[in-house]
Amino acid sequence: MHKNFHRGISVDANPCLLFYTLNMNITLPHYKTKIVCTIGPSSRSESVLRELIRCGMSVARLNFSHGSFDSHGEDIRTIRRAAKSEGTSVAILADLPGPKIRIGKLQTEPLELLQGEEIVLTTRPVIGTSSLISVNYDRIEESVSPGSIIYLNDGFIELRVLNIDKDAVQCVVTIGGPLLSGKGLNIPGAPLLIDPLTPRDFEIMEFAIENEIDTFCVSFVESAEEILRVKEFGRKKGKNLYVVAKIERAGAIDNIEAILEATDAVMIARGDLGVEVPIEDVPVIQKELIHKANLCCRPVITATQMLQSMVDNTRPTRAEVTDVANAIMDGTDAVMLSEETAIGKYPAQTVTMMARIASSFERQRGKIKWSSALQDQLKQYLRNKQIDIPDTVSLNVVEAAQALRAPFILTPTSRGATARRISRLKPNSWIIACNHNQKVCDFMLLSYGVYPMLMSTNDGTWQAVILERLQEMDLIRSGDRIIITEGKFSGDFGGTDSLGIMTVQ
Ligand code: PEP
Repeated sequence: MHKNFHRGISVDANPCLLFYTLNMNITLPHYKTKIVCTIGPSSRSESVLRELIRCGMSVARLNFSHGSFDSHGEDIRTIRRAAKSEGTSVAILADLPGPKIRIGKLQTEPLELLQGEEIVLTTRPVIGTSSLISVNYDRIEESVSPGSIIYLNDGFIELRVLNIDKDAVQCVVTIGGPLLSGKGLNIPGAPLLIDPLTPRDFEIMEFAIENEIDTFCVSFVESAEEILRVKEFGRKKGKNLYVVAKIERAGAIDNIEAILEATDAVMIARGDLGVEVPIEDVPVIQKELIHKANLCCRPVITATQMLQSMVDNTRPTRAEVTDVANAIMDGTDAVMLSEETAIGKYPAQTVTMMARIASSFERQRGKIKWSSALQDQLKQYLRNKQIDIPDTVSLNVVEAAQALRAPFILTPTSRGATARRISRLKPNSWIIACNHNQKVCDFMLLSYGVYPMLMSTNDGTWQAVILERLQEMDLIRSGDRIIITEGKFSGDFGGTDSLGIMTVQ
């Protein structure tokens, strides 16, 4: 790594000092893993959002399962204002609720369900008691049979189906516990007889598109079809939408190849996933998904409960810290905070902690031959399939960057594909990816080590402009090597077919 990068700032220092805030608009953190924060009551004020950006947030997630269009509209405006004030960009993800099954309103809260007691789940709208609870899934009786297991409240309460009637499913409580209104219900392995894209999802997309949002997390994806439908919806509105497929159902894992082909990115939504499949299978699924997403150049977000204990505490558990580091080691592009930043007591401290873990892991990764193992696997994969020009260039870019200890890889890109091809190999160098479209730049904020730069020129002077900026900011010095990709023979800004190496004078 270029010696200028560390400038003696220790990772234990004040989090806000972990950033180089430069007098121009290149701001490089001490780590390349991207941090996604869910915005909620704890983080929606402009001052907290600015703090989160300074501490490391590059992507803000709006969870449309909660809140109104008014509150989300306000959040979108505040996030953009905060990013502008901090002289940076923040990508916004609109997370669509999808067909989440929930229980209805309860008479008393919390309602204690006791082991061994019988309870009826009904599709009729009733106020719930310990013997009768309503659910918003009107085909529940078709999705279960006697003996089926039903989970409530993220799997904390377990029911076993005894009998099924027309609009009622009779169950026995096998694991009891306290229940609140509106909590989720999961039937692991059961076919969901609901369209994975609900009318509400389309209303949200309509609203979000009007507010210039073009990246959507699609919940409970089961097949590539849902992703293609979202893209088609955008196309009809003249928009190129990006889709982040949330992998949280067993069906999605079965169809992962087609999903990866259709989607732009994936999220390992470990919350619902850990109820829909046996919880002990989540670690292997996580590793496999990350690996497959890396192979296909799809940015991957590892989500849920990463630093959960920081909802209430100023420090995480050792296991949580290790979970974040392991996800980075698996090859995740981004790590996500949910309740920690949405409703937690310490949103900024949590982002800081995430940044510190990423920074420490990435700095020491040489000790465990982390990136070379990942790179070897990818190289093997690329050699086994028919390797094309962009893949050949991306492999050689990373080899050259490593051999020459190049601090930067400069890559012009038309849709971000070249940057993502290089990023999946997790090089030590920063990938400065330039494009003239703000939306393309924003989506690249999800990719490991990619620093998107909005450029107004594609007339061949872009390299000189960036190099001048890097030099002005003392980020490169005489003798440094810079790797440059180009669409030299294709004559296209994005049709990458060449690799150049220059020495800074
Ligand atoms: C999850 O289930 O892990 C997740 C991220 O989705 P949601 O927060 O919408 O439940």
